[in-house]
Amino acid sequence: MLLVRLTYISRIAHTKSEFVDVEKILNSARKHNKNNYVTGILYFNSDCFLQCLEGSRSNVNQTYARILRDKRHKDIQLVNYGEIECREFYEWKMGYAPHSSLTQSTIIQHSIGSELSLYDMSSNSIHRLLLALRDHVPAI
Ligand code: FAD
Repeated sequence: MLLVRLTYISRIAHTKSEFVDVEKILNSARKHNKNNYVTGILYFNSDCFLQCLEGSRSNVNQTYARILRDKRHKDIQLVNYGEIECREFYEWKMGYAPHSSLTQSTIIQHSIGSELSLYDMSSNSIHRLLLALRDHVPAI
């Protein structure tokens, strides 16, 4: 089976009338991903999202196409897309790594300052960050 991994970053897009509810995003993501055999993790630091999706090429592409249309975030940048031998995040329909004191030490390891600037990071660094964040994601 042809497996791919896709990683992107984006910024949350709050409107004046509506506050984006990450729990709702996760519930919808997990429901769809379960049906599509898509796995991955989502990191969110109250400003930016970092998400990785793994699965068959067609399922990952279709999922990303829906995510691109979603008005709850903006400035979406594809960081990495490629074929993989095996999944790195197979335990999660969509694991969630919220920013916390636990993830902060991981962030410092991967940042030039105390703030994480995802838009200034290379795709290799972002992948290493995702692997490190994996240790903070509870199994669901
Ligand atoms: P619908 O549910 O019909 O929604 C259509 C549009 O309405 C959406 O594009 C969105 O702009 C808007 N919308 C939907 N629900 C809400 C809401 N509660 N509040 C405000 N606006 C809303 N989907 C996955 O399948 N897998 C993922 O891993 C995944 N990860 C995501 C990560 C992020 C950061 C975001 C923002 C979204 C993610 N989604 C994911 C959700 C995805 O964008 C789609 O909303 C979802 O897949 C359902 O697609 P749909 O075409 O049925 O959209």
